[in-house]
Amino acid sequence: MNSTPMENRKAAYNTDLFSFLTASPTAFHAIHEMSRRLDDNGFTRLKENDLWTLVPGSYYVVRDGAALLAFTLGSRESTEQGFRVIAAHTDSPALQVKPQPELSGCGYRRLGVEVYGGAILSSWLDRDLSLAGRVAVRLQSSPTSKLFLIHFETPLLSLPSLAIHLNRDSTEQLNRQQNLPPIMMETGENPPDFEAILIARLRKIYPQVDFEHCELTAFDLFCHDLTPPCLSGLQGEFIHAGRLDNLLSCHAGITAITNPDRSRNTLLYCSNHEETGSLSISGAQGNFLSSVLSRILPDPVSRSRSLASSFCISLDNAHATHPNYPEKSDSGHEIRLNRGPVIKYNASQRYATSAATAAIFCDICHDAGIAPQKFVMRSDMPCGSTIGPITAAAHGIRTVDVGAASLAMHSIREMTGSADPLLCFRALSSFFAGNFHFV
Ligand code: ZN
Repeated sequence: MNSTPMENRKAAYNTDLFSFLTASPTAFHAIHEMSRRLDDNGFTRLKENDLWTLVPGSYYVVRDGAALLAFTLGSRESTEQGFRVIAAHTDSPALQVKPQPELSGCGYRRLGVEVYGGAILSSWLDRDLSLAGRVAVRLQSSPTSKLFLIHFETPLLSLPSLAIHLNRDSTEQLNRQQNLPPIMMETGENPPDFEAILIARLRKIYPQVDFEHCELTAFDLFCHDLTPPCLSGLQGEFIHAGRLDNLLSCHAGITAITNPDRSRNTLLYCSNHEETGSLSISGAQGNFLSSVLSRILPDPVSRSRSLASSFCISLDNAHATHPNYPEKSDSGHEIRLNRGPVIKYNASQRYATSAATAAIFCDICHDAGIAPQKFVMRSDMPCGSTIGPITAAAHGIRTVDVGAASLAMHSIREMTGSADPLLCFRALSSFFAGNFHFV
């Protein structure tokens, strides 16, 4: 059977998405991978503590290793004409390792963990878990600790479920303190301590660095599932992967902004800590975006004019209707996988969408030959949120909340349609390229 050009394009897009997901077990790795792609596409990296001289061109800034702002000052538009903004978040729910994590008992060494974000805890049982993040090390050659990315890339941790025979009431909730520390190893004679394990791994990753007599001073480490992303379903119509929320959107954003057409003002904002409320130095409630905007447009009046002419697509996955739990969704707003990006509405402004901003997104989709879907929560259930309302309120940028339809959101293994990532990207491409007026 011959494949159509669109099917080939979808397959190539998903292959690239899968490699992005695999390279990004944590927000730090996602930013590292996005930075690599921006470097490869001629973006200039700026540091917040340097002076900037901005001329038309493409730039990016990283904050705290886990948030990123990439922007193109277009050759065709002045900055006062506004920016086309895509916003997404880099973090995903996970188990985060405690600062002094070692636990011993029953012949095992385990790691104490906290729950980061709204993880579905049961999905972490019986998986091939590994460890990734960043560690700070004070080398012999310097009085100041240096940060290193770390990734074990092999199954290292396990969280076995309790046998059904010992747990007849298997609906019992997992206790976050007692039941979640994953097993790392058996404790034989003189087991290596956790610091020694991390340093040994760093030596393998960074053979050029001298770790002799070094001291590990701190770390941000997360457990993650090693199972690679895959296609499933009879026709390959589904995708299973970890961290689709919200790396699917980060990937779509980075692919769109590195597109060769750099004639317009575009901006990609990937923030951290959305899953815990966004209040941090690298979160959307922090001042990263406002600080960078004030340096692109130092004059307050010009900045206000620019933001009033800007438009933001806040891209974060949306809930598809679950066929086993249709009663959990509004029956008038059935959301399907593979049916295109979802516009999210909420009367209480948990999403930033209004008629004005939804209409613009409909125009963008129309231009791309895509029909968007419309989501609203059941009226008797609380609604989640995104960085959309924060971005709209803090910066005065009109914003629409949209995202790829997905199932099993916040599971260690989420699900979306295999057509959905490319459909989102095509909408973003149209947003960046089309002749839309946002005022
Ligand atoms: Zn999300």
